[in-house]
Amino acid sequence: MTNIVLHCKNCDEATPHAQPQTSHVLHLLLSVVTVGLWLPVWLLVALNNRGQATCTVCGREVGMFGSSRGGVKGMRPTPDTHVKCPDCAELVRREARVCRHCGCRLIPQ
Ligand SMILES: [Zn+2]
Ligand SMILES: [Zn+2]
Repeated sequence: MTNIVLHCKNCDEATPHAQPQTSHVLHLLLSVVTVGLWLPVWLLVALNNRGQATCTVCGREVGMFGSSRGGVKGMRPTPDTHVKCPDCAELVRREARVCRHCGCRLIPQ
């Protein structure tokens, strides 16, 4: 973890933010073991870690590219709000009567 000072929208001031660190040694080892197959994953993890930080004052996770994680895509499906469609195994809303993925009928729970 490294600490960087960022403006937190929640606290409305510049606060120290903890940024996850990429353990490059581990990824290097994995890349060697997988003969380079791991390289794209390493790159993704490094980019992802660089793009987010957690406010150490309020604990809010902020993306450094302006949006907080999950804010753009809307609510993340949770077992509270979503169930798995028995036909296609995609997550659908609990209240849904028809699966939006495969169109099969569902019993609202
Ligand atoms: Zn904060
Ligand atoms: Zn379905």
